[in-house]
Amino acid sequence: MFLKEIFCQDKAIGSLQRAYAAGRMAHAYIFAGDDGVGKFTTASGWAKMLLCENKQAVSEDPAFVDSCGTCHSCKMFDAASHPDFRPLCKELVRFTKDGKNKKTPVKFPIDVIREFLIDKVSNRPTAGDFVVYSIDEFEKVSNEAQNALLKVLEEPPAYCVIILLCSRLDDLLPTTLSRCQLVRFGPVQESRIVERLTVEGVDETEAVFWARFSQGSLGRALAWAMLEVAPSGVYALKRELVEKIAALELADAIDTAEWMGKTAKKIAAAWTEKLDTVSTTDINRRAQKGLIRMTACLFSDVMKLDSGQSDTLVNLDQTGPVHVLAQKIDAETAARGVELCYRMHKWIDSSVNEKLIFEQLLLNLANSDILNVS
Ligand SMILES: [Zn+2]
Repeated sequence: MFLKEIFCQDKAIGSLQRAYAAGRMAHAYIFAGDDGVGKFTTASGWAKMLLCENKQAVSEDPAFVDSCGTCHSCKMFDAASHPDFRPLCKELVRFTKDGKNKKTPVKFPIDVIREFLIDKVSNRPTAGDFVVYSIDEFEKVSNEAQNALLKVLEEPPAYCVIILLCSRLDDLLPTTLSRCQLVRFGPVQESRIVERLTVEGVDETEAVFWARFSQGSLGRALAWAMLEVAPSGVYALKRELVEKIAALELADAIDTAEWMGKTAKKIAAAWTEKLDTVSTTDINRRAQKGLIRMTACLFSDVMKLDSGQSDTLVNLDQTGPVHVLAQKIDAETAARGVELCYRMHKWIDSSVNEKLIFEQLLLNLANSDILNVS
């Protein structure tokens, strides 16, 4: 991937380029933004450029430097075998000294940071001028591991560039934040996500849904839209969910909660096939959160309908059920529905039992106090 090909992150890449051109490049960065907006893609493109033996100025913007794509370094990079680009992720735990047969944990293991970064940082580049490390999901790195990393962040060797990829800055220690240069990543434009999904063969109506559902996260949109869940796909499940929730009565709540639990398991199983190194807990949580997010989108659509913004509905492909729900509840009640979904979303990260979460959600949504069902 070339830097100039990265979608909608011109501001972030521009700030990196300006500092580089001025000879003020930082050696420790935090790339902050939602999952799937291009933080790792940018870190990887930036590393490829730094390591390239024949860096090129882009013709339309001479201050923008990119990799050449053809030198020995670029070829090694594209083959994922460049020794001076070292991306760290939780899944490396199985390659640590004590990690044999270990399953990937929910938190980022300190052993991975110690053995793959702190112990290696004095190793000089094998070929060029830099060694680039990136740490994925840095929001899951414990305070203990962040403290262990402080010294390296404070005074990295001159050849060393460390990029922390983070989706929640609140989880970082102030001491970590103060030692790094912050680069913010915004959401990817809806039209670019739709364009990309249709290139992958996704139907346009469906692509618009996934783009809006993903709120500017291209990675999330691709992951959901391309997921193959038997027999008729994950999009059919979302349509079924929207219909069920729009027609929900108190008497159906437990059955619908059970359906959501089973559906989350199906989705998680489909992901497990694709992502066999990712932790099972992470995959289950992602599936559960997805269904809750779909529910939240339906309630926020009712609010949009109420304020006359019907062209911005997430469920533009299912306006029927949105209208059905809008006839049962007012905007204020819909807002309480959205709030409830976000509360349940947080419960998932707090390891609350999934059956309880779906039951709480559905019973509350179906309760007459919340939804004013007559
Ligand atoms: Zn090159």
